[in-house]
Amino acid sequence: MKKQVTVEKSFCDVCGKEASGYTNCDCCGKELCYECGNTELKEYKHAVHFSGSGDGSYCHECDAQLRGNGDKKHAAYRKIEALRNEESGWHEDFKKRMTAAESELSGLSA
Ligand SMILES: [Zn+2]
Ligand SMILES: [Zn+2]
Repeated sequence: MKKQVTVEKSFCDVCGKEASGYTNCDCCGKELCYECGNTELKEYKHAVHFSGSGDGSYCHECDAQLRGNGDKKHAAYRKIEALRNEESGWHEDFKKRMTAAESELSGLSA
């Protein structure tokens, strides 16, 4: 028996290529392949110390738009991102002072 079947396939909304997996923009639903997602999507982690399911991804257009219109979910993601950046800032500051203190000591004992 021969049958003609219609197969639904997904293609990347940016480069038009067929990929094995896609990431959707959480706002407009645009589907992006892995490579395009790397450059075209802004990723937001869902927690300060964790990431994984629940993370947000927005295409640049939606990211810019949501920044302006006070979207609550997007604002919460941005708050978490700010805290993550703040924390890595502390680490950098701490590392700087640590290196300075250690080289101070090794300078004295030389
Ligand atoms: Zn693509
Ligand atoms: Zn979008």
